[in-house]
Amino acid sequence: MPELPEVEVSRMGLLPHLEGQRLVAAIVRRADLRLPIPQDLHARLAGHRLAALERRGKYLLFHWPTAGGWLILHLGMSGSLRLVAPDAPLGKHDHLELVFPDTVMRFSDPRRFGLVTWQTGEDAQAHPLLAALGIEPLTKALTPDWLADKVKGRKQPIKQFLMDARIVVGIGNIYAAESLFRAGISPLAPAGSLGPEHLRALVAAIRETLREAIDAGGSSVRDYVHSDGGAGSFQLRCAVYGRAGQACPRCGTTIRQIRQAGRSSFYCPKCQKPADGAR
Ligand SMILES: [Zn+2]
Repeated sequence: MPELPEVEVSRMGLLPHLEGQRLVAAIVRRADLRLPIPQDLHARLAGHRLAALERRGKYLLFHWPTAGGWLILHLGMSGSLRLVAPDAPLGKHDHLELVFPDTVMRFSDPRRFGLVTWQTGEDAQAHPLLAALGIEPLTKALTPDWLADKVKGRKQPIKQFLMDARIVVGIGNIYAAESLFRAGISPLAPAGSLGPEHLRALVAAIRETLREAIDAGGSSVRDYVHSDGGAGSFQLRCAVYGRAGQACPRCGTTIRQIRQAGRSSFYCPKCQKPADGAR
């Protein structure tokens, strides 16, 4: 599933090719995704220039000021965006094409959990899907003090807390596992039991983990956008995620796998301790 780093890498890959370009045509081939693709996209956007391509959480925001709004796109479970030549053969799951003078952006989504929608006005965040989102982990909004305030009194395990997009966006299962390993915190630790040291380490670990994943994809941005590989064609070098039964790279202890809220968690029982005072 495309996570925040993959979406950011898509954005960085598309931006230099699409920014400032005038749309020739919007072709909807199949509309029934998680939300139906608006059928009037062509009428709305043809002839207008794409002014900006931004990201909020895992949503890509295409700004068309002269058309009066934003095209909002989510890759869902299996979506990907590619730039192809106008005459490139169509894929079976290519549901939307944005045709520009020199290139075509195709949105492919085999499982159709993705979505494309329209938000009229200057502020994309006004859309109900975006309005309830938590803070961006790579901005200055995420600080140890902010986190301390949010975890206060929370008994929920820190792993589940981190994955709640209403609090912080974009920390998916892999990134939660790897961030907690780097910070030396057990995924089972109650969020509210983490002290200032742990919270500082956690904020640093989240930034570092996401940044590394973006850089890993960023170095191959060109291939990423132009290939058929789609999202997930690069991955973070994981220390614990997906490594149950193998040795912890730091101490050699066997990595454990457990279930939390229906998701797999991976951790080193020696390096990752319960929270301050919870031993
Ligand atoms: Zn270890």
